[in-house]
Amino acid sequence: MGSTFDMVDLIRAKRDGRRLTNAEIDWLIPAYTAGDVGDEQMAALAMAIVFRGLDPVELTTWTEAMIATGERMQFTGLTRPVVDKHSTGGVGDMITLPLAPIVAACGAAVPQLSGRGLGHTGGTLDKLEAIPGWRAELAPADLFRLLDQVGAVICSPGPGLAPADRKLYALRDVTGTVESIPLIASSIMSKKIAEGTPALVLDVKTGSGAFMRERERAVELARTMVGLGRAAGVDTVAYVTSMSSPLGRAAGNAVEVDQAVEVLNGCGPQDIRELTLTLAREMLALAGIDDDPAQALSSGRALDVWRAMIRGQGGDPDAPLPRARHQRVIEAPRGGVLTRLDALAVGVAAWRLGAGRARKEDPVQSAAGVLWHAGIGEPVEPGQPLFTLLTDTPERFERAEQALSAGWEIGEGPVDVEPLVLERVAG
Ligand code: URA
Repeated sequence: MGSTFDMVDLIRAKRDGRRLTNAEIDWLIPAYTAGDVGDEQMAALAMAIVFRGLDPVELTTWTEAMIATGERMQFTGLTRPVVDKHSTGGVGDMITLPLAPIVAACGAAVPQLSGRGLGHTGGTLDKLEAIPGWRAELAPADLFRLLDQVGAVICSPGPGLAPADRKLYALRDVTGTVESIPLIASSIMSKKIAEGTPALVLDVKTGSGAFMRERERAVELARTMVGLGRAAGVDTVAYVTSMSSPLGRAAGNAVEVDQAVEVLNGCGPQDIRELTLTLAREMLALAGIDDDPAQALSSGRALDVWRAMIRGQGGDPDAPLPRARHQRVIEAPRGGVLTRLDALAVGVAAWRLGAGRARKEDPVQSAAGVLWHAGIGEPVEPGQPLFTLLTDTPERFERAEQALSAGWEIGEGPVDVEPLVLERVAG
């Protein structure tokens, strides 16, 4: 097939710091999606973008071209205002699980089109699949019906939404080109804009367990995504939040569902409650709903929505979750205060125990994961359990322990604990 542009010219141009024209981008993205531009050439261009970036005009054109490769959803027929949330991903980040039912219990519709985990960060769909019977795939008619009746749906996006991103993200994942602000921003926002939500709250993670380790880069990513959202008519607000330490007390699939249910029962770890309620308040403000999410939790309304949401997708909210066949406890070698708990170390340990996947076609173990029994700044007694490692395949314990070993410290304290919510970015 003849082509309008020569891909080698585009790669050289970006490599040498020249901006790509709208016409070049509008040709390139559909050509790559259709297979007319090869993976090796797209990988070279992605690497050039990692080093040279995209300017705001290139970025907008790039994002719009990605959206145009697929369908755009519309939620106009619903009786509830629609609002969505996206997190850039972290360790123990199961906030979506309690958040969607809380916001739905206050009257909004929350269409959470979520992904699976790759590497050390978990995927929301993998977590929910720990629930017996629950399925991630929903026909569009069921998605709309559940959104209207229950108010919250967490499901897989289906192949029609920004297919360019699906292909490009898989390529970036294996070519060291994920960590680029314009590529991450266009990847996330192309899916969210195509999804058709009119309002969006972003949770941009920073710290060792996040894509953006430095706070300044996370803020830049947040600003870039808010800019893209607003330019596309999506009322977007971002929070930059800490992922230096893992969230909550568990990393894995079933263990994070357990924790979500604890939160919905009015208990659960304090940091999870704080972040969930912060994001819920922002979502409700964007949706124009004047209701108190803390009351939705304490009254049990959110738990009722959770149960209806799980049932609506074939799951049994009362069924016991899978339990790991093997566990290993790591005890505190001495007393003191837990002064460090590194998100990346915990995430890699959970991944090595089988909670995550190395390649996207790998299965995950629902029951695998890590529990930690003390948070940063908390006192520990000598010999008390510090971590419980869970897996169905005990040969994994050793490498998981290795990953975890440099990730924590017991010291004298006191500890300066970094705030969880670092910054709000609204335009
Ligand atoms: N999540 C996405 O969807 N895309 C990225 O590029 C990074 C995280």
